[in-house]
Amino acid sequence: MKKVNVICFLNLVIAITIVFTCFFEPIVSAQIPGKVKNVIIFIPDGCSQSVQTLARWYKGAPLTLDAMNSGTIATFMADSVITDSASAATAFACGMKTSDGFIGVGPRIDTLLSVMAPIPDQVQYMPLANILEGAKLMGKSTGIVSTSRVSHATPAAFACHVYNRGLEAEIMEQMVYENVDVVFGGGKNLLLPSDQGGERTDGEDLLKVLLDKGYQFVETRDELLRVNSAKVWGLFASSHMQADIDRSEFAPLEPSLSEMTSKAIEILSKDQDGFILIVEGSQVDWGDHANDPIYAVTDFLAFDEAVKVGKAFTDKNGETLILAFPDHDTGSMSIGNNYFSKAYTATSVEDLVNPLKGMKITSTGLTMKIGSNLNANNIVSNLQRWWGIMANNNDANQIIALHNSGEPLNYAICETINKNYTAIGWTTHGHNGIDVPLWSYGTSRPVGHFDNTDFARIVADAFGFDLAQINFMLFFDVDKYFPGSYVIEKTDPANPVLRLFGAEMPLSKNIIRIKGNTYEMEGLVVYAPVTNRIYIPYQAIYYILLNMGM
Ligand SMILES: [Zn+2]
Repeated sequence: MKKVNVICFLNLVIAITIVFTCFFEPIVSAQIPGKVKNVIIFIPDGCSQSVQTLARWYKGAPLTLDAMNSGTIATFMADSVITDSASAATAFACGMKTSDGFIGVGPRIDTLLSVMAPIPDQVQYMPLANILEGAKLMGKSTGIVSTSRVSHATPAAFACHVYNRGLEAEIMEQMVYENVDVVFGGGKNLLLPSDQGGERTDGEDLLKVLLDKGYQFVETRDELLRVNSAKVWGLFASSHMQADIDRSEFAPLEPSLSEMTSKAIEILSKDQDGFILIVEGSQVDWGDHANDPIYAVTDFLAFDEAVKVGKAFTDKNGETLILAFPDHDTGSMSIGNNYFSKAYTATSVEDLVNPLKGMKITSTGLTMKIGSNLNANNIVSNLQRWWGIMANNNDANQIIALHNSGEPLNYAICETINKNYTAIGWTTHGHNGIDVPLWSYGTSRPVGHFDNTDFARIVADAFGFDLAQINFMLFFDVDKYFPGSYVIEKTDPANPVLRLFGAEMPLSKNIIRIKGNTYEMEGLVVYAPVTNRIYIPYQAIYYILLNMGM
């Protein structure tokens, strides 16, 4: 106590009151059972209704999602009518619109759209509690599944709090210390330090951390299918996993999205308190960015298969809510284009579907087959072999010209083949600001038009928690209550540490060390470098008081 000055001591007394009124209140409210035991959120990144339509034609049968269409969702973000994945996922996960690239933190206020209500200054860059954190505090199990690196924008926003989606090493660190029960996807390189072949420059071995925490760690489909632990990470690729249609050719040891979803549900549903699971079909977006119809459609169908697994569980379980929605459209695909040789009123099913039927890999996979030998013969023969397109030298020369003018090779291939051989059109290589479809199923399913920020409240209501309370519990603004009483020590610049009243808390972890004791907290220590503010779980105050003998 000697080192603590009087003002800070008074603040500490105030904190005791806060701890005992606020810290325990959510636990009390959590005793009120919600209407729903489990929530599964499915996100096919970057698509809209047109991909669903083409996928149905391509499959030649109804999709699981067809019977679940139940509304529309506005997607704009805090500083643009057209959103990015990070801000969109933050809106879904935390219930607040935020700025471009922000993951689970409040928006900057100097770039807000004219239609946005004013944002209080202290909300800028402030971590925002998400529905996974709320569910976890209610004792539910949690899971995240994606086919991208699990540190990519969409999965990250359901577990992490970082102002820049590009800071994936930090995101991965937060993901590990967030104690999510089941994590499946790609990105193993971000677990390992560079001297073990990984990409981490902070020297941290997060795989060892996971194993020390008692997680099972698996890397192949066979290992996944044999998993028997309640806590498991499966990273099946050093970076992103393969596109669904490319898996058999390029990465046959990887599981499918539906296999990962099935195993996640099998594990999480053993929790009597229920669970929340986020499943992202990450690569529909990448197909749409490339304007590659086979990539988008086959990854969407793989996504639909994963939804089918969730729906079958919901039919048996009866206490589960499924919410499914793209985060935004990408590419703005149309059925019909300006180059089609017939009147649009004469478009046959075969005109639409047949050009896609011979495609065995994505345009990305096709560029790997073509390799660096960009002569017309090589391009034509690979288009014939892998895409079933009877292309000619004219097509190949168009592709080469587009590529020489600066387009990535797969973009050039898709643009040429779409125009010359399909009835499919595209508007952009970027995202599109239109509304996206809502699909929902099960207990208390929402129906109607929504804003993307509505769903965090819908999930919180369904589970019976209040996100504002969760925010209060997890993100105590240290600077507000203890100004001048703390330091962020950067002796090791790659691993800064917060020091407060004799306690030591590494940033982006859930660890507090004090008087030789180490405790795991139920939330992360989050630093906002732009505002130089630091946020800790209230539990930290409790442990500080405990170790002062109070
Ligand atoms: Zn997206």
